[in-house]
Amino acid sequence: MATGENEPLISTAVTSRETERSARADETILEARGLDVHYGEDRALREVTAEIPERKVTAIIGPSGCGKSTFLRSINRMNDQIEVCRVEGDLLFRGKNVYDDDVDPVALRRKIGQVFQKPNPFPKSIRDNVTYGLRVQGKSATDDDVERALRGAALWSEVEGKLDSSGLDLSGGQQQRLCIARAIAPDPEVVLMDEPTSALDPVAASKIEDLIAELAREYTVVIVTHNMQQAARISDETMVFLTGGELVEFDDTATIFENPANQAVEDYITGKFG
Ligand code: ADP
Repeated sequence: MATGENEPLISTAVTSRETERSARADETILEARGLDVHYGEDRALREVTAEIPERKVTAIIGPSGCGKSTFLRSINRMNDQIEVCRVEGDLLFRGKNVYDDDVDPVALRRKIGQVFQKPNPFPKSIRDNVTYGLRVQGKSATDDDVERALRGAALWSEVEGKLDSSGLDLSGGQQQRLCIARAIAPDPEVVLMDEPTSALDPVAASKIEDLIAELAREYTVVIVTHNMQQAARISDETMVFLTGGELVEFDDTATIFENPANQAVEDYITGKFG
């Protein structure tokens, strides 16, 4: 996979993604530096500084309202769509601040795709759902592209032969995997997931969890989850936000769950928080 052309965020930065990927395995791909996010007068993130490693699963956990989704949305500038939202500080993707004036947010979102909580396929065929991202880039999508994305999302064997039927006719779990296929078809580098299994039954959720581990071979995955067991099962690294939009601890997942440095994190993990 990953044979697509590298599309620059700005017109000058043309690089070979394959070369870049193999050279940069285990390096930082995303970095927040003093990131502050306000909604009007309310501060949702407070001076967040963090380095997210490439091709790993990084989980974001913490109580409701602590800023997990806000942080996720600030990575690919989905917060741009919220009028009252103001971002300060830096969010670097491969060393480039995504908030620089010369960054095209649409090009950015092709490199940093997103999967939402509730499966949201378009009311179109399975094929059209998968090829959507390529078509909006003006690229033609071949049958191979469709098969590759559906295989990547562990859905191919279930939909092969019915690519022209509606994405809405699939089960909830299949729809979420279709959304993952849609997110990976344009060959992004990062896939952001905001509670991708919380609307699914346990069997469907478990399939997505298995898939996330597979995706991390090829992509960097950053996942918000309210389910601590899920974070412990599927992630390599865990960020813990607590009330007030503060990132209180960020370490490898085993350390966070077995030996956290911060007492408040230990209290949260063991259910004593609040
Ligand atoms: P979490 O994902 O951890 O539940 P959020 O990032 O959704 O937290 O929210 C963090 C804070 O920002 C909360 O106080 C929430 O009310 C506020 N917030 C989130 N989205 C918006 C929005 N679109 N407009 C105004 N405030 C928002």
